[in-house]
Amino acid sequence: MLPPTGYTNRMNDANQLNAYHHKRDPNRTPEPFGNAAQADGPMFVIQQHDATNMHWDLRLQAEGVLKSWAVPKGPSTDPREKRLAVPTEDHPLDYADFEGVIPEEEYGGGRVIVWDRGVYHDLKGDAAGEEIADAIAGGHVKVWLEGDKLAGGYVLTRMRGDDQWLLIKLEDEGADRRRNPARTQPQSVLSGHTVQSIGGDAP
Ligand code: MN
Repeated sequence: MLPPTGYTNRMNDANQLNAYHHKRDPNRTPEPFGNAAQADGPMFVIQQHDATNMHWDLRLQAEGVLKSWAVPKGPSTDPREKRLAVPTEDHPLDYADFEGVIPEEEYGGGRVIVWDRGVYHDLKGDAAGEEIADAIAGGHVKVWLEGDKLAGGYVLTRMRGDDQWLLIKLEDEGADRRRNPARTQPQSVLSGHTVQSIGGDAP
């Protein structure tokens, strides 16, 4: 008899976050270390991260963690735009609430805000019964986002090796060639802060 769904994933959680934990000292960074369950999943979050190089971290809940990609130019609503997305280490689920200032000397140091957040639907899984984790492993992810700033279908496609993916908006009602939310909507959906104001006075 096979174990119930979720059993294997749960057992793997500790190992999956090894890279995350290895890079961080809980005494030195305000980032979360737990893995609190979320009620409304599966969720996505995009955190704008003003580090050495500005980027937007796209994270999808899968297998009990947040699968993560760093998008240097941020997500686009224009289907003609192909945005580079570089995979980064799995993050704990409660990272989805994190915004604040990571000390500059720590891994990933810089300012973080929750730029957008919501639930997603796995478009491939809905059609074929495939798990989102399988889609990620296979290098082709197709999701429907329901965020405050981003809505509709997005594709994530692995290009060369393991470290170059592309994030592309699909043609649907959420597509808009004139919007540029990464530039024109810089406020956190949680606090109203920007990466410039986070850690300072109220927005
Ligand atoms: Mn980052």
